[in-house]
Amino acid sequence: MTDIKKVLVIGTGVLGSQIAYQSAYSGFDVAVYDISDEIVGKARDVTFPGLAQTYLNEVKDATQEKVDAALARLTYHSDMGDAAADVDIAIEAAPERLQIKQNIFAELNEVAPERTIFCTNSSTLLPSDIAPSTGRPDRFLAMHFANRVWQFNTAEIMGTPDTSKTVFDRVVEFGKEIGMVPIPMHKEKAGYVLNSLLVPLLAAAAELAAGDYADPKAVDDVWRIATGAPLGPFQIYDIIGLNTPYNIMINGDAEQQKLGAWLKENYIDKGRLGLASGHGFYDY
Ligand code: NAD
Repeated sequence: MTDIKKVLVIGTGVLGSQIAYQSAYSGFDVAVYDISDEIVGKARDVTFPGLAQTYLNEVKDATQEKVDAALARLTYHSDMGDAAADVDIAIEAAPERLQIKQNIFAELNEVAPERTIFCTNSSTLLPSDIAPSTGRPDRFLAMHFANRVWQFNTAEIMGTPDTSKTVFDRVVEFGKEIGMVPIPMHKEKAGYVLNSLLVPLLAAAAELAAGDYADPKAVDDVWRIATGAPLGPFQIYDIIGLNTPYNIMINGDAEQQKLGAWLKENYIDKGRLGLASGHGFYDY
C-alpha cells in the first residue's frame, strides 16, 4: 500500500484551508497551493492562524503546542511544480467549476510524482467527468469533506469505475488517519449521501415556511422533538449560510426559484445571512 507522508491541498478557501489544517493537525506534512502569492499570503497570515485559534477553542484535545506544531507542518506555494514535489496524495478544493478542476488536474499530472493519488472535494460534480483530465484515472477519486471538518468529520469517498480498489481502500484509511469517519460509496451519486438527504430536507422545510404552513421555528421543533435530531432544518440553513442555498434555488425549476425569492426578500435582503452574520432564521 502507498505510504502517505506528504499531502498537497489545492485551494485555500473555506474547505481547502480546513482540509489542510486538519491533515497537519493529524501529523502530516502539508503543502498548500493557491493561484497567487497574495492569496497564499492571506492564507498563511490570516486563515491558518485563525483556524489554529478555532481548534484551540473548539477541539477537545487541542493545546497551544499542538496547534502551533500543525501550523509548522504547512508550506505555502503559488507554483504547482513546487507544491506537488514529493507529495503522496493531492486533494483539490478549488471553485466548483468543471473546467477549472479539469485544468488543475491536467497541470498537476504533469508535475506530480507517478505514485501521487489525486482526490477532488467537489460537492456536486461527478468524479468520472474529471477523471480523463487527470492522466491517471486509476489513482483518482472523490474525497468529500463537510464544512467544519474538525467537528462534522465525515469523508465521503467515491470512486469511478476506473478507480483502483487499492487506491480507494488507501484513501479510506487516510480518512481515518486524519480523524475523519470515512463513508465509502459503492458507486457514483451526485450529492453523495449527505446532500442526497440534506438538499430535499432543506427544500421541504422552505416550502413549509414560504407557503405559510408553519413558522421556521415550528418546523425545527417538529424535526427535533419528533426524530431526536439535534438541529432542525432552519438551524442547518443558518450554519450553512443563506447565500449557498439561495444560489442553488435560483438555478432550479420555477418552484425552487419562488423559494429563492422568498429567502432573498425575507432574510438575505434584510442582512439575515445566517450564523456567521449574527442573524438568520434565528438571532445569535
Ligand atoms: P472557496 O471559494 O472558499 O475557495 C476556493 C479556493 O480556490 C480559493 O482560495 C481560490 O483562490 C482557489 N482557486 C481559484 N481558482 C483556482 C485554480 N485555478 N487553482 C487552484 N485554486 C484556485 O470554495 P470552497 O467553499 O472552499 O469550495 C471548494 C470546493 O470544495 C468546491 O468544489 C466545493 O464544492 C467543495 N466543498 C465545499 C463545501 C463548503 O461548505 N464550502 C463543503 C464540501 C465541499
